[in-house]
Amino acid sequence: MSRWYTLHIKNEILFWFFILALVPLFFLSYINYEYQVQKYKESSESYLKLVLNNKLISIQNNIDAFKKDIVLLSQKNDIKGAIKFYDEKFKALDGIENSNYKEILDGLVLKNGIYDLFLINTNGDIVYSVKKESDYHTNLNNRVYAHTNLAKMFQNSLTLLETVFSDFEFYAPSNDEAAFIATPIYSKDMLLGVLALQIDKKNILNILDDHIYELGKSAQIYAARLDNNKEVSLVTSLKTEFKNSNITLNDQNSPIYKAVHGQRGIGVLHDYRGIEVLATWGYVPTLRLGIVAKVDMDELLLPAYQLRFYSIVILFFVGLGIVVAILVAIKHIVEPIEKLTIGVKNFTKGNIKSKVEVDVDNEIGELSKNFNEMAKSLKLSQDTIQNYANELEEKVKIRTYELENAKKGIEISNMEMQKYLEVINRYVITSSTDKKGVITKVSQAFCDITGYTKEELIGKRHNIIRHPDMSADVYKEMWGTISSGKIWSGEIKNQKKDGNYYWVRSTISPVFDENGKIVEYTSIREDITDKKIIEELSITDQLTKLYNRVKLEEVFHKEMQRVKRYATQFSVIILDIDHFKHVNDNYGHDVGDDTLKDVAKILKESVRETDVIGRWGGEEFLVIATQTTLDEMLIVAEKIRKNIESHTFKVIGKKTASFGVSTFRDNDTQESVIKRADKALYEAKRNGRNRVVSEDVNGV
Ligand code: GH3
Ligand code: MG
Ligand code: MG
Repeated sequence: MSRWYTLHIKNEILFWFFILALVPLFFLSYINYEYQVQKYKESSESYLKLVLNNKLISIQNNIDAFKKDIVLLSQKNDIKGAIKFYDEKFKALDGIENSNYKEILDGLVLKNGIYDLFLINTNGDIVYSVKKESDYHTNLNNRVYAHTNLAKMFQNSLTLLETVFSDFEFYAPSNDEAAFIATPIYSKDMLLGVLALQIDKKNILNILDDHIYELGKSAQIYAARLDNNKEVSLVTSLKTEFKNSNITLNDQNSPIYKAVHGQRGIGVLHDYRGIEVLATWGYVPTLRLGIVAKVDMDELLLPAYQLRFYSIVILFFVGLGIVVAILVAIKHIVEPIEKLTIGVKNFTKGNIKSKVEVDVDNEIGELSKNFNEMAKSLKLSQDTIQNYANELEEKVKIRTYELENAKKGIEISNMEMQKYLEVINRYVITSSTDKKGVITKVSQAFCDITGYTKEELIGKRHNIIRHPDMSADVYKEMWGTISSGKIWSGEIKNQKKDGNYYWVRSTISPVFDENGKIVEYTSIREDITDKKIIEELSITDQLTKLYNRVKLEEVFHKEMQRVKRYATQFSVIILDIDHFKHVNDNYGHDVGDDTLKDVAKILKESVRETDVIGRWGGEEFLVIATQTTLDEMLIVAEKIRKNIESHTFKVIGKKTASFGVSTFRDNDTQESVIKRADKALYEAKRNGRNRVVSEDVNGV
């Protein structure tokens, strides 16, 4: 993630706004504030200086005025007369008042700034006092008052013979701070005593307080002096509101300390309260009075503070205004960008439904519209794709369902098939051979019927089970059929391992590869041995093992049909043993039977395999020869006749037979053919036996 200030344009704008706009504004305000502070300080300083100077001058003027006044008073005759009068009265212990003097003296005290007026004789006795406080009629040289400022001024004025001024000090009789001015009174170079005035503290305080409030509420002028213990002691009372507990007048850095030590100056210092003040300080040597004019910095700078406050308020509101302006700008510029950014972000995350709600009439608005158009068309194509995908998914589901069902079906089928295969293996005689007839597979049933094991059969040629009775023609035909890609079916007699035979109905099919080429042959066989036995029995003459009359009639029928269909020829021979009755009669019936068996054997050996031989009845035999003319048949008959004639039978020796031969003619029936052969046989018998006679080719 990026840093915040690069991530959000909004923040960036705000940030740069503060840097570029508010910071200079802030500095300008600060400089202005500092300038104002300086200005207020300077103007206050000069004003304070002015005030303090005025006060110092006023006080000095006041003092000077007092000095001038007291000198003038001391030279007045009324005063001279008064001191003489009251001195005498004092010495005479006479308390009589002179109303004239009293009026004059009391009138002086009423004058501004004078608290009391004393007339003191040269002995130091206060012979007159306007106020007549406890000091009245006391002697300033005695213990009680010797250390008062009044006593000091009295002595100084007498000693120096000039006007003297004291500083302010607590004066017990008045129970207040007081300063005294004293001057000697002469009368024609004779010292009469001392005129002393008690200066009211208020006199000075009034000067100090005058107009000070113009400077501010915290503005204050106060005066102090060093007391006897060299400690700073206030002369003026402080404003009560500033009179807190921690007054520290003796701090060397406080303005009042500097003042009472005769210094003059101005500066920002901590006053007696420890509060920062702008102060000026000065010293009145006559009164040994330090004076401070000060104003609290807080008050002094209040307009500056207010300016600062308003600057901050203005800054705040200007800032606020600009923030609002920026927010408006953001709403119009940045927000669309942000929305667009979010939209594009969402879009790239794959939420292509994301739409940017920007309705501003500028490039960003245009960009947003184009973006929305793009998103819309993309959404459209995605929807189409989604639809295809959904359809496909549906199809896949259906197909999957079908496949699963089919699979189940196949599984069931496989199981059934397995069962069937098992059954087939066990009960059906099957085998496979390669193209050359070498056995590759055999079923258990095949092994069972042949008596061979699988191992004995596989790899051997199939003719291992060929029975000698089967003619080569059958196999020739079979191979011809299957090697041409057709299925061959037929009954085959096979030989077991133990030499016995069995009969099967065999169906042999070629198996093809993907190119249609034969790769192997499979055969399936049905055991028909029992059927064959019954069948043979029904067509076999039990004595001679030749065909019986049933079979001969069947062959006859087939041959007649064949001749009709293929226009060929077949012929028959009927033969009858000559004088057979004698055999039975002379040697017995069994020898007769043996003779019949021997004849049958001779017959079999005398004819072709395709010729059919059977016992027609008694000691008569019938030979049916297919595709054989009458002449050819006559030769066959002659061959048989000779073979019988030349054969020596057991027991009976020589024997002959007679032959009648006929051939099939159009419109013949079995009876008509046999009948003509029979007729020929009769002719043979009649003509001396042991001969072959042809049918009468012209007869019926
Ligand atoms: P020919 O034919 O030469 O005229 O004289 P024949 O003695 O052979 O006369 P015929 O043909 O009439 O006699 C048939 C005799 O054959 C009668 C019967 O005893 C005898 N025969 C017929 N069937 C059998 C048989 O199955 N076994 C035996 N042992 N004899 C049989
Ligand atoms: Mg006979
Ligand atoms: Mg006979």
